[in-house]
Amino acid sequence: MGQIELRQVRKAFGAVEVIKGVDLTIADNEFVIFVGPSGCGKSTLLRLISGLEEATDGAIVIDGEDVTGKPPAERELSMVFQSYALYPHKTVRENMGFALTVARMPKAEIAARVDRAADVLKLEALLDRRPKALSGGQRQRVAIGRAIVREPKAFLFDEPLSNLDAALRVEMRLEIAKLHRRLDATMVYVTHDQVEAMTLADKIVVLQAGRIEQVGAPIDLYMRPANLFVAQFIGSPK
Ligand code: ADP
Ligand code: MG
Repeated sequence: MGQIELRQVRKAFGAVEVIKGVDLTIADNEFVIFVGPSGCGKSTLLRLISGLEEATDGAIVIDGEDVTGKPPAERELSMVFQSYALYPHKTVRENMGFALTVARMPKAEIAARVDRAADVLKLEALLDRRPKALSGGQRQRVAIGRAIVREPKAFLFDEPLSNLDAALRVEMRLEIAKLHRRLDATMVYVTHDQVEAMTLADKIVVLQAGRIEQVGAPIDLYMRPANLFVAQFIGSPK
């Protein structure tokens, strides 16, 4: 399961409120994408879900349980960081299993989970390599593998493809779509790339200045934008 609810979530940094009362339900297995201009609060919202930031007000509920105020480790979510966050001195296998090693999972279980993730991500032949001997796309796959082995309720991605060149970005976009079908997992994904949002999402959440402008399937936003901001951002026909 991986249903995530945000109820009137607010976040202020000092006197400045950057998330201004967000209500949203993300269904189990749904692929939800947050889009909006730089600074609108996408990363903050993701960090509030993950527990890396604490809400100033409102509640975050995962599978019916109020997790507001709980640390990230108790939320059973995996945040996918960009590929440069790999440990350079560890092998692919060690990178993928590291969080489980820290959690003192038995070695055989770690190996089994890493092997399963490597199969899904086509990394079997690369498990003994170190990050510097991998391509950009392979490194990104390892970063995703690290999240998969934790078998989370949901995956949280913050602009995972923004460091990749255009061709690789298209390839990885297809990989992520495949991954979503294969893992049957809830995915919450932040991007400022409209094309990425339109092609990957079951549901797009358009944000502006800490508020939701519109929520809907890509085709709905495209055909029936709620306002000029959404129309211009999504690139709807006039
Ligand atoms: P986005 O990911 O959409 O570009 P962010 O969520 O990173 O936007 O930021 C939203 C707003 O909150 C911005 O104005 C940003 O400067 C501010 N902000 C984010 N994190 C902090 C922080 N730790 N302290 C103060 N302001 C922050
Ligand atoms: Mg951001």
